[in-house]
Amino acid sequence: MKKQLDISSDLSWLSKGNRPAIISGPCSAETEEQVISTATSLAATGKVDVLRAGIWKPRTRPNSFEGVGEEGLKWIKAAGKETGLPVSTEVANAKHTEEALKHGVDILWIGARTTVNPFSVQEIADALNGVDIPVMVKNPLNPDLELWIGALERINQAGIKRLAAIHRGFSSFEKTSYRNVPKWEFPIELKRRFPELPIICDPSHISGNRDLLGMIAQKALDLEMDGLMIESHMSPDSAWSDAKQQVTPATLNRLLSELIVRSKTT
Ligand code: PEP
Ligand code: MN
Repeated sequence: MKKQLDISSDLSWLSKGNRPAIISGPCSAETEEQVISTATSLAATGKVDVLRAGIWKPRTRPNSFEGVGEEGLKWIKAAGKETGLPVSTEVANAKHTEEALKHGVDILWIGARTTVNPFSVQEIADALNGVDIPVMVKNPLNPDLELWIGALERINQAGIKRLAAIHRGFSSFEKTSYRNVPKWEFPIELKRRFPELPIICDPSHISGNRDLLGMIAQKALDLEMDGLMIESHMSPDSAWSDAKQQVTPATLNRLLSELIVRSKTT
C-alpha cells in the first residue's frame, strides 16, 4: 500500500514563523486559576505559540486523578482569550472530540495510549470528518513506525491537512535514564518520507524529569525538528500529574533562551 499524506504547507496554526514552535502548559488542567495564571506567565515570555492542558488524563493505574473533564475546556478557552494564544488538548475518543469541538478548542492531539489503537484513532477520525482543525499525533507507546503513520493517515483521510507528529519516546521494560526512550531514527524517517509533516519533540514525556529537558530539546533541534512541547506549571512539585517533569514558566523561558537553533540544512 502506498503511504501518502496530504499535508497543508500553511503552518501558521503552529507558529508565527519562528522555529522551533513552542507548545507549553500544564500536564493537566487543575483549576481555572492555575490554567489562567500559567497561560498568562507563558504568554509573557513571548516565546510560546500554543497552550496545552490535559482535560482527560489517561492514567496507568485506577484511582489516580483522571482529569477535570469538560468543565476544564471552559478554563482553557478563557486562558486562550486572555492571552491570545491558541489552545490545545488531548482527545482519546469520539466523546472527547465532540466536546472539544463544541467548546472551540483550537488544536487537538492524540496521546500515545490512543495512537496504539486503530479503532480509537478511527473513532476520532470519524468524529472529525468534515471539520477543519489541526491535529497532532503522538507516537504510539511501542516503537512501531507503521502504526504511527497509520494513525496520521486515518486522521488525514478524514480531511485533516493541518497535521503534525509528536515524538514522545517509547515505553521500555528496561530501566533507563528516560521515562520513555527516544528513537531518533523515527522522526528522521518520518521527515524523509513526509518532508512537509511538521515534527514536534516532547522532551517532558521522554525525560520524565526536568533535569534532562534542555539536553533533549537541543537534540531535537539538532535533528531539525520543527517544534517542542514542554509541560509547565506554576508550582511543578505540587502538580496533580507528571510533577517531576514540569517546569515553571520562568524556567521554561531560560531553557528556551539557552537552545541553539541552526538554520536548516535543506
Ligand atoms: C500528556 O501529554 O500529558 C500525555 C499524557 O502524554 P503521552 O500521551 O505522551 O503520554
Ligand atoms: Mn503529562
